[in-house]
Amino acid sequence: MTRKIAIFDTTLRDGEQSPGASMNTEEKLIIARQLVRMKVDVIEAGFPISSPGDFKSVEEIGRIAGDDCTVCGLTRAVDKDIDVAAEALRTAKRPRIHTGLGVSPSHLTEKLHISEEECIERAIHCVKYARRYVDDVEFYAEDAGRSEQDFLVRVIQAAVNAGATVVNIPDTTGYSMPWAFGARIRDLRERVDGIEDVTIAVHTHNDLGMATALAMEAVRNGASQIECTINGLGERAGNTAMEEVVMAIRMHEEEMDGHTDVVTQELCHASKLVSSITGINVQPNKSIVGANAFAHSSGIHQDGVLKARDTYEIIDPADVGAGGSQIILSARSGHAALRHRYAELGYTFDDASFDAIYEAFLEVADKKKEVYDEDLESIIHEQQRITTAIWTLGAVQISCGFPLTPTATITLTDEDGHTTTDCAFGTGPVDAVYKAVNKIVGVTNDLSEFSVKAVTRGIDALGEVTIRVTSESGEVYTGRGSDNDIVVSSARAYLNALNRLLATEREAA
Ligand SMILES: [Zn+2]
Repeated sequence: MTRKIAIFDTTLRDGEQSPGASMNTEEKLIIARQLVRMKVDVIEAGFPISSPGDFKSVEEIGRIAGDDCTVCGLTRAVDKDIDVAAEALRTAKRPRIHTGLGVSPSHLTEKLHISEEECIERAIHCVKYARRYVDDVEFYAEDAGRSEQDFLVRVIQAAVNAGATVVNIPDTTGYSMPWAFGARIRDLRERVDGIEDVTIAVHTHNDLGMATALAMEAVRNGASQIECTINGLGERAGNTAMEEVVMAIRMHEEEMDGHTDVVTQELCHASKLVSSITGINVQPNKSIVGANAFAHSSGIHQDGVLKARDTYEIIDPADVGAGGSQIILSARSGHAALRHRYAELGYTFDDASFDAIYEAFLEVADKKKEVYDEDLESIIHEQQRITTAIWTLGAVQISCGFPLTPTATITLTDEDGHTTTDCAFGTGPVDAVYKAVNKIVGVTNDLSEFSVKAVTRGIDALGEVTIRVTSESGEVYTGRGSDNDIVVSSARAYLNALNRLLATEREAA
């Protein structure tokens, strides 16, 4: 049997830090349920002290994670952070506190303004302090990839002595080369006493496109936990992509001497879920989960693949859950069939919220003959956006054409049930809709991105609109909306972004 390599998912913490990817608690719970279903070992659910929303997410994810999945909360090496994280993690059956501080020369002198000795003292204190609350404490040595190796050895030795169960060696800035990073891990294994009793974790970033290679070299040299995100979501160029490391280990299990327990058939579903919720699409040529990852357009390749799949394909698409969508439901499908299919996709509802979803399903099924899994996901996300909204769309009516001036009339309802109607002209129908919404909601923002995508194939497909707006304070918010009519999708997407903006500003106030 090869070594077990633990998969630590940080989509909900580090991934969420990418611009425009912020998620509310309900959305994080949808992703967390998927992570539990695919058997990841650890979910980093948030940074509890950073906001009430993060605190609540960690608490709620703790409730649903079950017996086998560890739930982790991030802290700085600060007592108050650790107190708050411990409080948020009380719901979890397997809680872990992830604490630590910067160890590179620039972190010590520019950010923390402390000496090496003070850094070691803080490391010891934060691990011991966290151990008073939980048995499982992961220590991170931020920017280890640019640290002095001798000092890194001393800090990690101190953390191990203080009782850390996991030591995380992050290449925070994505600076390292794989061989040098692997050598650091090997050196730690050789020089830190007692390291054989703790888990060595790695957290790598993709600034030079090396994230997966760094993680693989670390595993080859003794690391047995990889921190990663779905789709490689994350700040700047992103984190290590879970789908890449999981499949790379699977394809090279013997030489890596390692395996993971991740249910690989769920990888594509997880990818779609995360891009649908965050509004951050995956490039078509992305490994494993990109739309073209298994497409063969060259005639020679097609012939080869038809004769024997492994001529040009190293992975069977079915192993990662890729492949065509299945037609599953139609307007004639009843409550039970819909509920059953949603349960298979991992969604359960109380009766009241299911009724609303069934209504929405019938509306889609009336317009579309065949309803695919992607449509069902889209319906759920749309309902989700409506139930957490501050403003909801009551009605939208457009007139446009040649030589008309595009005009939109919009009716919106606020959370107290007050309804307002207004109209506006625009350079096009979407512009007119946005201007009418602005007259009612009155929030200053800049629209920085607008894209439309068909959820499934065919002319009757649901159209999903993704937009990004920038608030006056410079924060980016993503909005999504779906409908058979893309002008309606646009209105929903815009409201969704404004609702996020308003909810965040309200939380901060
Ligand atoms: Zn990171």
